[in-house]
Amino acid sequence: MGFRDLLQFRHCDRTIFTLGDPAGPTALRCPICCQAVRFGLMEAPVRIQTPIRDGHQAACSFLITSQVGAAGFSEENESELHVGISNSKGVVFSYTELGVLHQQVGWEQSIIVPLVAPGNDTLSFRMLWDTQLETFSNLNTWTGDRFQEQREFGSCCYGFALSYINHVMRSEGSEPITREHFTSQYILHRMEAASKYLSVYQDVCQHGYHSTAESYRSWPTY
Ligand SMILES: [Zn+2]
Repeated sequence: MGFRDLLQFRHCDRTIFTLGDPAGPTALRCPICCQAVRFGLMEAPVRIQTPIRDGHQAACSFLITSQVGAAGFSEENESELHVGISNSKGVVFSYTELGVLHQQVGWEQSIIVPLVAPGNDTLSFRMLWDTQLETFSNLNTWTGDRFQEQREFGSCCYGFALSYINHVMRSEGSEPITREHFTSQYILHRMEAASKYLSVYQDVCQHGYHSTAESYRSWPTY
């Protein structure tokens, strides 16, 4: 199941979330009063892009997926998360008890952290990325029988992915990034946004819309 974008707007003194209307905002009706909604200046509905997207469509990215489906992105289930790194063709490399897997399916519902700025995304960069990722994943560190041993150091899939990022950063002459820094800068707000999106999305799917008295100025960004 794919997730859809949400539309957020104000009406009836409430902030309302609905599924992004394919007919466009002109055809929008308020689900509370059933009136067609007209928007003044600065009131245009906001489209909230789903934070859960196909990781195989995301080149050169850090991906977070859940082994229990999207429900795993909600706060209570975070232990079920699994992370990996995609190559330029959307093949996802991740460290498991079987060693490093190279997967072309299975990451369709992922939270995506792009690692490469669009301007740096050249063909030669992509080729280098793919070669480095292949070589790195073949290192003896990432064999299946060492998985438990790595886990003791809090390593596992996250350790593999972050070590690869640091491997690339070092090769570019940059300082490595710590786990705490990476998590707080790149992961936490995305997890928070995904968790919030999911709770709203589930309500929209069940009831046709979600509304709250809160007036959101901004949605967490990702
Ligand atoms: Zn209304």
